[in-house]
Amino acid sequence: MRIEEASLYAVQNRLIVPFAASSHATQELTHILVRIRANGGVGWGECPTLEDPYYLGETTKTAWHILRDFLIPSVLGKEFETIDGFLGLYGPVKGNTFAKAGLEMAAWDLLGRSAGRPVADLLGGERDEIFSGVSLGIDRDTNRLIGLIEVHLGQGYRRVKLKVAKGHDVDVLEKVRNRFPDVPLMVDANSAYTLNDVDHLKALDSFNLMMIEQPLAWDDYVDHAKLQRALKTPICLDESVRSLAAARHALDLGSCRIINVKVARVGGLREAKLIHDECLRRDVPVWCGGMHDFGVGRAANVALSTLRGFSIPGDVSGFDKYFVEDIVDPPIVAFQGAIRASRRPGLGHDVIESRLLARCAAAERFVT
Ligand code: MG
Repeated sequence: MRIEEASLYAVQNRLIVPFAASSHATQELTHILVRIRANGGVGWGECPTLEDPYYLGETTKTAWHILRDFLIPSVLGKEFETIDGFLGLYGPVKGNTFAKAGLEMAAWDLLGRSAGRPVADLLGGERDEIFSGVSLGIDRDTNRLIGLIEVHLGQGYRRVKLKVAKGHDVDVLEKVRNRFPDVPLMVDANSAYTLNDVDHLKALDSFNLMMIEQPLAWDDYVDHAKLQRALKTPICLDESVRSLAAARHALDLGSCRIINVKVARVGGLREAKLIHDECLRRDVPVWCGGMHDFGVGRAANVALSTLRGFSIPGDVSGFDKYFVEDIVDPPIVAFQGAIRASRRPGLGHDVIESRLLARCAAAERFVT
């Protein structure tokens, strides 16, 4: 099929409650929605970027620039039949994984819709439903945090992830573990620590955590390997794993025992599946992380999570945990901690253009 048209939309939505990690805080989100047209069909993708470069280096503005000036010109007017063929069109573009992921996601949606098959099937997914965990931001009021955990466990979420930072870790975990001795619990540090904190981090071993996510620098493997040797708790890498090659390096070095796979962080569903396949081969568990995705990106996360190796409940929850209204229909909702994977063609959730345009801060259209 030949790409006849591509459009970019800067779409805004607001988190119901502000979200804070050690690396960044956010409430007003602007994600780029990508629409491509080919052979009379359309596909949608999403770049779940932040406005600032504090999680990783890309921002909404850099992703827009890379899409407009490099990625879209590489695919516009070109023929492709498979995802690998599509990826080859912009192969020379280095890095910029969030920008690439939005465009690639649109190609998966287009291919699925034109073939009448769900993207989960195209990926080789095996699960009908995925188990959902909840990720809670840093809240200096620990009693309020404990109340939030109670609410989400009451809704059936299967795992609790807490964001931690220096000065907001051991004390919080003591209170949370006292209140919830058996709940599956993990923490995410978003690179808050260094190897100088190894003795402090060893104290976390006493809380029976499922894992400690990204304790050290966003671009590190070697120090994580040293830390992993000193800890009983498994380390999970997020920011450090931005490609299949990075995943292989991290696993070869012993930098982690679990990987958080995020579609946007690794440049799209194809690379995410390859990382999954490598981890499955090595018997390393993976789970799917999120970026407060709107409905298109959330649908891609659900499709990815149907793969066999996604054995740990991820961060993919119902949209209503974060937003009053989403831009897709049917909405993505969790019931008793599980989300049913769509059986509709493509990503299975249609962008409602009136909702998209009501939240649209900028748009640009490209035609052959
Ligand atoms: Mg993380």
